[in-house]
Amino acid sequence: MSKKVQTAISPTRAQDYPEWYQQVIKASDLAERSPVRGCMVIKPWGYSIWENIQREMDDMFKDTGVKNAYFPLFIPLNFMEKEAAHVEGFAKECAVVTHHRLEKGPEGGLVPAGQLAEPLVVRPTSETIIGESFSKWLNSYRDLPILINQWANVVRWEMRTRLFLRTSEFLWQEGHTAHATAEEALERTSQMLEVYSRIAQDYLAMPVIRGSKSEAERFPGAEDTQCIEAMMQDRKALQAGTSHFLGQNFAKASNIRFQTADEKEAIAWTTSWGVSTRLIGGLIMTHSDDDGLIVPPKLAPAHLVLLPILNNEAQRSKVMEYTEKLAAQLREQRYHDRRLRIEIDTRDIGGARGWDWIKKGVPLRVEIGPRDIAKDAVFFARRDKSHREKTSLPREEFCNSICSILDEIQGNLFQRAMDFRQANTQRIDNKAEFYSYFTPQNKEKPEIHGGFALTHWCGEAKCETKIKEDLTVTIRCIPFNSGKENGKCLICGKLSKQRAIFAKAY
Ligand SMILES: [Zn+2]
Repeated sequence: MSKKVQTAISPTRAQDYPEWYQQVIKASDLAERSPVRGCMVIKPWGYSIWENIQREMDDMFKDTGVKNAYFPLFIPLNFMEKEAAHVEGFAKECAVVTHHRLEKGPEGGLVPAGQLAEPLVVRPTSETIIGESFSKWLNSYRDLPILINQWANVVRWEMRTRLFLRTSEFLWQEGHTAHATAEEALERTSQMLEVYSRIAQDYLAMPVIRGSKSEAERFPGAEDTQCIEAMMQDRKALQAGTSHFLGQNFAKASNIRFQTADEKEAIAWTTSWGVSTRLIGGLIMTHSDDDGLIVPPKLAPAHLVLLPILNNEAQRSKVMEYTEKLAAQLREQRYHDRRLRIEIDTRDIGGARGWDWIKKGVPLRVEIGPRDIAKDAVFFARRDKSHREKTSLPREEFCNSICSILDEIQGNLFQRAMDFRQANTQRIDNKAEFYSYFTPQNKEKPEIHGGFALTHWCGEAKCETKIKEDLTVTIRCIPFNSGKENGKCLICGKLSKQRAIFAKAY
């Protein structure tokens, strides 16, 4: 008889990955579905991760000269029409406001009334409304560059939604910049992708591949879309952030013009770039295991939880006193320039208490009982290791080494994810091999397939479409670091100058 291993999350990743994902979110109390179709409620534990991402990223933006501002939620319909590719790209998922009040209808219920002369679109993205402001702000070359970021919510009417990964309303930041030259705008596009790459790798501990999208996968209206792509534990790709070089398309549409140094009129060059709460979906799927969420220490809502053992009535006050003292000593420390975040859980719920924190993914769990107090030691467990593995350290030593322990966890999570990606990435030059790589071996588990394929592609949309239609596999990006290497396109056999990353994607 095989020994049944108990896991906190059911089903496990191997049993049913999509359902496992939903159950991790539930068990860790990150978010839940709302009564509004396709919209989510982000609960405190989930929102706190977003706040931590936001705080780190906001500092990085500002270090590059970007300033925050805020623009309207509504976009007049005619603004959307200004850029043809843009409106085509977003038309199918727009929420539109057509009325501005409610009246009692003939059946007694409330009905919309007061029809608007011009409908308003709830922003799916803000290029057009921000472009309108830029056209007013910009007069002379001396006003450039304009470097703006907005933290906001956007609405894209999705038919099939999934918490964090795809919701009708989501939180994000959108950066918008205007420049005097194409070179400067391109430089900014790459610079912001670099920021995203740092956030993903150094904070989410999520390895990413940087590259450019194929024309078919570009942002509607952009000349180049750069992206970061990560591999999830089901070997599917997640687009985690994008940075767009918009050329002069939006500047022409919104009339963003300026006077040059030699008093000629010129059209500005613009960029836009964004990441969203989708990053949290990436974090969950990169690190979590069959016992629940695992949060990288740098973004954890709590770095550690103190669990005083209070079942001995006589020792109770002594244990609490020691716990408070330890918390105070730890709170004096800083971890990567932020306060050490500590939770104290005094609930009397037996073993369920420890499991709650395992499921929530807190990096360190510390149990405090009379025996530890007698030894002046700290008994702790790490979330990146088995829940049975516990270590004891003298209190002083623990306090002095806590930041390096957290860094070690952060580093382990990154390395684990990197090893996983490398083990599931292959260079494939043979068509039959490519097709079998992406064809599920087990019909009951269609989600199981190869992973990332680095494969030659001629650059033609028709070869890309063929692969997409046959296998639902898309070009995730043409990686920057792949180096020039001549080969033959997998589909048509024509000359290809570089490999692209092909994968199934979220
Ligand atoms: Zn081809």
